[in-house]
Amino acid sequence: MTSQKTALVCGAGGFIGSHLVKRLKSEGYWVRGVDLKNPDFGSSVADDFVIGDLREQSVCKAILDRPFDEVYQLAADMGGAGYIFTGEHDADVMHNSATINLNIAHYGQQAGIKKIFYSSSACMYPAYNQEDPENPNCKEDSAYPAAPDSEYGWEKLFSERLYLAYNRNYGLNVRIARFHNIFGPEGTWTGGKEKAPAAMCRKVAMATDGGEIEIWGDGKQTRSFLYIDECLEGVRRLMNQDEFLGPVNIGSDEMVTINQLAEMTAEIAGKKINLKHIDGPLGVRGRNSDNTLIKEKLGWAPGKTLRDGLERTYAWIAEQVQNSKNI
Ligand code: NAD
Repeated sequence: MTSQKTALVCGAGGFIGSHLVKRLKSEGYWVRGVDLKNPDFGSSVADDFVIGDLREQSVCKAILDRPFDEVYQLAADMGGAGYIFTGEHDADVMHNSATINLNIAHYGQQAGIKKIFYSSSACMYPAYNQEDPENPNCKEDSAYPAAPDSEYGWEKLFSERLYLAYNRNYGLNVRIARFHNIFGPEGTWTGGKEKAPAAMCRKVAMATDGGEIEIWGDGKQTRSFLYIDECLEGVRRLMNQDEFLGPVNIGSDEMVTINQLAEMTAEIAGKKINLKHIDGPLGVRGRNSDNTLIKEKLGWAPGKTLRDGLERTYAWIAEQVQNSKNI
């Protein structure tokens, strides 16, 4: 009889972490989750959920009390453009996330964990390759010379290097993915840390038919968005093989402008919506996932359409908006 596999999910109270816990439970893992908070929507299905601050060495030591088969390090101080690109949170973002990663790499290695996944971000790619909205270059090997456009991106790059250094010097068995705009139900949809698809769904859900919503910038900036289930599929496939450490993009290569995202959302809602363009934090001009490497190394890449994921997400956010009106 094979013994039950064990997993530790850091950031298990967050959007991707809480979905990942569900996925690991459905695959039969014993799961410990840790976070500063419980998941925002519904309680965690983890076998053990620890409320703790991963900046504290004592917390990291305590939760890494066994040689876990798999550790997923998703905890980070992060948010959407309104949080990352205003500059107001730079010191906290760098200090908090770097401290978490320094602790987890160190205590994870000491605990003899078998494998660790680190979630980096497309925000680590150089800004100079993302000025043309039609042709952004986000190939994995375009990372250097480094020039991310946010301190959040610089911290991700530092932590990628940290985990790779632990791999070289101590044999820490790491896998690294660079996520590109993950979205779906049970993600932050209000309050300032929400990302573009959730913000768009909320604005459209709150608008009346024939009404108006605000868009930051001219709306011609391009992005791609990946539905949560496909993100988790990519993570599990990366973890389930022993040849390739990454870093690898986990993202969609269906690039759209923010205006198109707004129009698609309005179409799903069945509303006629006018777009009002206002000043706001923007980030790079264009970004898209390049999926050549993931196809080559894992023989798989995300394939579902943006429309498909957006329909599910809109339905969930429209329900949240409705419920909040009823309070
Ligand atoms: P999230 O903010 O929902 O989850 C992060 C979790 O980390 C939060 O629940 C937060 O409470 C927790 N956390 C922060 N500081 C902590 C601390 N000191 N101790 C314990 N827990 C702490 O974000 P998410 O969207 O689920 O993202 C997960 C990971 O994926 C993050 O590392 C993020 O940078 C990365 N990522 C996400 C996206 C995306 O589009 N969602 C894109 C690129 C990269």
